[in-house]
Amino acid sequence: MISQNAIDTLRHTEIGTRGLFIDGAQSQGIAGATLPVISPIDGRVFASIADGNAADVDRAVTSARKAFEKGSWSRAAPAFRKKVLSRLAELVEKHADELAVLGVRDNGTEIGMAYKAEPLSAAGTIRYYAEAIDKVYGEIAPTAENVLGLIHKEPLGVVGVIVPWNFPLMIGAWKVAPALAAGNCVVVKPPEIASLTLLRLAELAADAGLPAGVLNVVTGRGAVTGEALGLHMDVDAIAFTGSGPVGRRLLDYSARSNLKRVFLELGGKSPNIVFAAAPDLKQAAVVSANGIFRNSGQVCVAGSRLLVQASVYDRFMDELVSATTRLKVGDPLDLTSDIGAVSSAEQLDKNLGFVARAQIEGARLVTGGERILAETGGSYMAPTIFENVTQNMQLAREEVFGPVLGVMRFDTEEEAVRLANSTVYGLASAVWTANLSTAHRMVRAINAGVVHVNTYGGADITVPLGGVKQSGFGRDKSLHALEKYLELKTAWIAL
Ligand code: NAD
Repeated sequence: MISQNAIDTLRHTEIGTRGLFIDGAQSQGIAGATLPVISPIDGRVFASIADGNAADVDRAVTSARKAFEKGSWSRAAPAFRKKVLSRLAELVEKHADELAVLGVRDNGTEIGMAYKAEPLSAAGTIRYYAEAIDKVYGEIAPTAENVLGLIHKEPLGVVGVIVPWNFPLMIGAWKVAPALAAGNCVVVKPPEIASLTLLRLAELAADAGLPAGVLNVVTGRGAVTGEALGLHMDVDAIAFTGSGPVGRRLLDYSARSNLKRVFLELGGKSPNIVFAAAPDLKQAAVVSANGIFRNSGQVCVAGSRLLVQASVYDRFMDELVSATTRLKVGDPLDLTSDIGAVSSAEQLDKNLGFVARAQIEGARLVTGGERILAETGGSYMAPTIFENVTQNMQLAREEVFGPVLGVMRFDTEEEAVRLANSTVYGLASAVWTANLSTAHRMVRAINAGVVHVNTYGGADITVPLGGVKQSGFGRDKSLHALEKYLELKTAWIAL
């Protein structure tokens, strides 16, 4: 674990202006424009990044294609790719303190969580796919005697990776690592408000021996660089995590360009369902509070809709409010804080807009609902709970992506299932019950990519993550994610 001493040494490191990373080296954007990097910790500018444009994206894609055609990565023995990626995992671990603090200055995530979720988890992901890739075999089809049917697995070519700001390094690694392990060349478009760790990852990859052009990073605004990547005729696939509206655009870009495949990990409005038969109501309340409020609610799988069985409603709410008000919101670079800053002033305004609308629509504010620590100049928000939320309210239907929880009560299992499945999303969920049959029935009945039982959140690289309905399609993590980055080719050979 990182120490407070190490954090304090790193927190004021001069960053300066960071360029794009193309063809194995840092370079300025063609137009020379930059974007300020504002820390949500104190609202101050602490660095700047290149504001790339479509010509920069084209330069990066050209470099990736050239590297792919050259074959020194794409056609290298999997054992070689394993070696380089394992070295990269080691370097990420070695630089974990630096990466964690850099990321927190960028997006405000509390350092304890950031340290584990960003560098450590990214290193684990990179190592997982490095170790997997020399265990992936082709197939021989069960054909008639006079033919031989071979099924080859080949890299796709150039993969574009577009990620959000909540956990850029972790989510970036979920896509970059399997794509590279499979032999693809990659162009990453980081989120404009949190680009620094992915730029550093590309430098570490070069240090680890990744050939030039195999991993490129183009920073800049989504509507410019993201669009250019999505529309590029020489990009074979886009792996995206982010909001639904941008996901829709990417499908449109694909249709308007070269029909590149698009994998979408989108938002959620995940139900967390507490039955009266929960094994331990107090523990359920503590975990549920963390399940929505950690990282200021900026977690795609956050349990943002809490459904509580009426017979234990009052008891559970008492425990929940007490667990919530105990959470310390503060400087994300202070190890005693439980929750850091909201990622940006814009996101904070958006969250407060949801609070105002919930009040107008008749939900009852139980705690929070306001900006706090304004004197720091940063973007901090009190964990917020609304009750008496009904299905027609915005808070029951739309993703906030902030520390705002909507609570509803239910009487029967059927009602819980109906409420749980009543949004356009289907990313995560949880069920709290000691009744094994109820738990298994709920796992089957809930439309979501993940159902937690008697816990919220928590998973590792061995299991897939992704959604159903408008939470998107395609899965990150696990060996299943590797399949997205491999093309099947049939050889039909007459004997
Ligand atoms: P966003 O959709 O605004 O941005 C995501 C990325 O897309 C950024 O890099 C952005 O620059 C880029 N982008 C923006 N406009 C673009 C365009 N026109 N063309 C191409 N790219 C464009 O999302 P965000 O605000 O960064 O992140 C929050 C969203 O991400 C939430 O909806 C959250 O649920 C979702 N999310 C999902 C998962 C998951 O695994 N399903 C994980 C984390 C976050």
